Amino acid sequence: MSGQERLSAFPLESFRDVLAANGEFSAAFKGSALTGSAAKGLAIVTCMDSRISPLALVGMQSGDAKILRNAGARVTEDVLRTLVLATYLLGVNRILVMPHTDCRMAQSEEADIHATISQEFGVDTRSLEFRTVSDQRKALTTDVTRIRSYPLLRKGVTVGGAIYNVTTGALEPLDC
Ligand SMILES: [Zn+2]
Repeated sequence: MSGQERLSAFPLESFRDVLAANGEFSAAFKGSALTGSAAKGLAIVTCMDSRISPLALVGMQSGDAKILRNAGARVTEDVLRTLVLATYLLGVNRILVMPHTDCRMAQSEEADIHATISQEFGVDTRSLEFRTVSDQRKALTTDVTRIRSYPLLRKGVTVGGAIYNVTTGALEPLDC
């Protein structure tokens, strides 16, 4: 019957495990007095890589930090938009840009990723810029500088860059 389901219906089959796990989570949920402000004043800009647990790797938990994620941990217009809001309104006074080792975005050229998708799926994605990285350290310096020099960012906010090692769990701070 799934083919007969209204397109607007929630796709239950695809999310059954997600909802079941949430049922357990919410049953054990202790409630929360937290606000939407970052209690530890931290924002982390990192990659969508599923091996990264941003809060855990810096010893924090819900309520402590803002987490911004995208492919490659790149500082895009939308990241800047979010950081402006976070620094003025949501308690953020330090920002860590955190790409990681073994990142797919740092292993391929822009053109190669377009070619791969085109060959495997027949879709031309070249109207998108994936923002691949050929030199991860240089890109990190560029991204950190981009935030530091952004004129709308709240004054006094500290910005740092570090690479997360997905094999060891260690952060390597970088002079940017
Ligand atoms: Zn990545």
